[in-house]
Amino acid sequence: MTALKEHLVSQIRANGPMTVAEYMAVCLMHPEHGYYATRDPLGTAGDFITAPEMSQMFGELIGLALAQAWMDQGAPEAFVLAELGPGRGTLMADVLRATKGVAGFHDAARVNLVETSPALRQVQAQTVTWPGIAWRESVGDLPELPLFVVANEFFDALPVRQVQREGERWRERLVGLEGEALAIGLSDPKAMAPLEHRLEDTRDGDIVEFSPMGESIAAEIGGRIAKHGGAALIVDYGDWRSLGDTWQAVKGHEATDPLAEPGRADLTAHVDFEALARAVPCRYSRLTPQGVFLERLGITARAQALAKGLEGDRLETHIAAHRRLTHPHEMGTLFKVMAFTPDGAAPPPGLDT
Ligand code: SAH
Repeated sequence: MTALKEHLVSQIRANGPMTVAEYMAVCLMHPEHGYYATRDPLGTAGDFITAPEMSQMFGELIGLALAQAWMDQGAPEAFVLAELGPGRGTLMADVLRATKGVAGFHDAARVNLVETSPALRQVQAQTVTWPGIAWRESVGDLPELPLFVVANEFFDALPVRQVQREGERWRERLVGLEGEALAIGLSDPKAMAPLEHRLEDTRDGDIVEFSPMGESIAAEIGGRIAKHGGAALIVDYGDWRSLGDTWQAVKGHEATDPLAEPGRADLTAHVDFEALARAVPCRYSRLTPQGVFLERLGITARAQALAKGLEGDRLETHIAAHRRLTHPHEMGTLFKVMAFTPDGAAPPPGLDT
């Protein structure tokens, strides 16, 4: 048995079954044996690949959208340029390169990376070189300034709880033990006030997921944007309202059982954007498919310009990346974008209200 599995088994023996969120938090974030704490999971040799790792175009367009939002809000002369869960730092590096020519933007930017993984902080320090760059444990530690922030495939990595409807009540899915093996069980049914609105669109047996951590992080960044100005761009897979069991484990680009190898596989769930929107005290944009968003920002023109300098395999890879980012059968529709902005401010380009 691995050290992390032993830790989980002894916790369950001592305290009884744990919520799916508690299990995810230990698997992903355990300081010694957690998935993110111990490795760089990204890229072809890793477990999964993300949009900024596929093409520089993704980060460039996000950077220009944030810079336009900064200009639209009067170009505040000191602001926080932040990323939540920056992975290898590729997205932030592309944001900074693409915005070099935006007058005053770099002088005003205080670059902050919110990252809990020590292993990934080290990678980020190699990729993003910036005077005074700061790493933060949580969004609450960001400086109190206008906040322009991007989060790509961050909210899907946050722990979710899962409940199954029974009458007007819910049974929570719990990770317990069958002998030595981890197994899913159900709690006794309980009333859950925060899920009142889900009684409208669910039936007996339906599973609903919610992420208390995701909602509180959204509330924190939305609160700062309402107070100081700024904009958040949230990009992730999911939908306006999530329904059903979307909890998944991925290892070496293949799906596996989330209970099979704790700490060795990536665990994610689809993002419920409605829950994030309900949590913020500021405006939120219409939820927009990633493909539509990138097309509106001019990805095709950028792709054509970049293609001129490429040939052979590099050209093929570039064309494939453009397609993967935008095509409805690839990431184009599954991935969505939503922005938070202060009351009275327009959403960043590519999005509408
Ligand atoms: N945004 C990157 C990486 C996505 S992977 C990309 O698009 O390539 C998820 C990232 O979120 C990792 O950097 C992981 O370490 C970080 N992360 C996960 N949970 C976190 C938390 N609670 N607080 C801060 N960072 C977290």
